[in-house]
Amino acid sequence: MDIFDINPYLTSKKVKKLIKSAKSMRANSIQYISIHKRKNGSEYSSRALIQKIKFNNKDAYAIYGSDISEMEKAQNELLHQRDLLKHLAHHDSLTNLPNRVLLLDRLSQAIYRAERNHMKFAVLFLDLDQFKQINDSLGHEIGDLVIKEVANRLKKILRKEDTFARLGGDEFTIVLENIKSSNDVATLAAKLLKNMRKSFVLKNHELYITCSIGISLFPQDAKQVNLLIRNADAAMYRAKESGRNTFDFYSKDMTESAYERVVMETSLRHAISKNEFVVYYQPQFDIETNLIIGVEALARWQHPKAGLVQPQKFIPLAEENGMIIEIDSLIADKAMLQYASWINTNKNPGKLNLNLTIKQLMHTNFINDLKTKMENI
Ligand code: GH3
Ligand code: MG
Repeated sequence: MDIFDINPYLTSKKVKKLIKSAKSMRANSIQYISIHKRKNGSEYSSRALIQKIKFNNKDAYAIYGSDISEMEKAQNELLHQRDLLKHLAHHDSLTNLPNRVLLLDRLSQAIYRAERNHMKFAVLFLDLDQFKQINDSLGHEIGDLVIKEVANRLKKILRKEDTFARLGGDEFTIVLENIKSSNDVATLAAKLLKNMRKSFVLKNHELYITCSIGISLFPQDAKQVNLLIRNADAAMYRAKESGRNTFDFYSKDMTESAYERVVMETSLRHAISKNEFVVYYQPQFDIETNLIIGVEALARWQHPKAGLVQPQKFIPLAEENGMIIEIDSLIADKAMLQYASWINTNKNPGKLNLNLTIKQLMHTNFINDLKTKMENI
């Protein structure tokens, strides 16, 4: 007997096999999903429920068929939504790179593999140099495009198996597995820096941006996920301190200096709230007349325990974290008050020179603030 069906895959051989298995079946019914063709040629899934029945006192099989294509469509849509949600939870929306969550997971896997195979691997912590200036001068939107372009450009240099993640802000992390020596990593870090040299052209703006890279190695620098990242971060700070646009490997003394930095930052914040700054005045002379023509107000920090702290110890940090704006303002208050008292007692020292940071001009309403300060004296 030739069996004809609109299911093109259901050959007579297959049907005979099905009938045979249905006859030998122990259960009262079986389900069978197959692909059928509609008259117009399009395919759809059909589910057949084959049930054992008695018909005229004989064994028979009732087959109920239903089109389950809509249900399958809904199921596929659900699966797609689930995959999408999973992707969003593990990727950064701006660059589509793995995010911190996925990075931590990949790092744990890298540790597991490296331990099992007695291999080394490296974590590179990359931070763009002076990125705030791009946001401040060209706007956040261009800043976002820079982050995207940097991600695209650096991705091209890396192997498929390397994890390249965006931690947030202008920070990226790379996990390089199966490395033979630290030389391999240094070569790659140099290549990454070199690739940043070419200008970025974004919406009619041509701009240059560099980055600083810190490197920590498994197992010699750390054996845990968070320590590997922390140490690479400390090495990145050292690269910034060495003038930026460079890379550095982690060394133990960096943890100490990172700790010192945190302590310093905390006490500097206290110093601002308690106004522990004092002003030193450097006189300026006219070399022809030998008369004082002005004074320059210089900041010193009178630490309650450590004594007088020299500016080179706290100004670079204050410039980096933005506290310099408040410090300069406190110094200006004190210096202007002192200057007014000199004038009032007929000891005119000439011009008063104040040191300012460019950040103050960019972030504050400097002239108005200065006028208010003068009115309040
Ligand atoms: P440094 O050389 O010390 O790294 O200086 P920097 O100006 O790059 O300073 P830092 O790395 O500390 O700051 C990064 C800045 O990135 C802070 C924030 O204004 C900006 N930023 C963070 N996330 C985003 C983002 O998603 N888009 C844009 N456009 N900017 C961001
Ligand atoms: Mg940065």
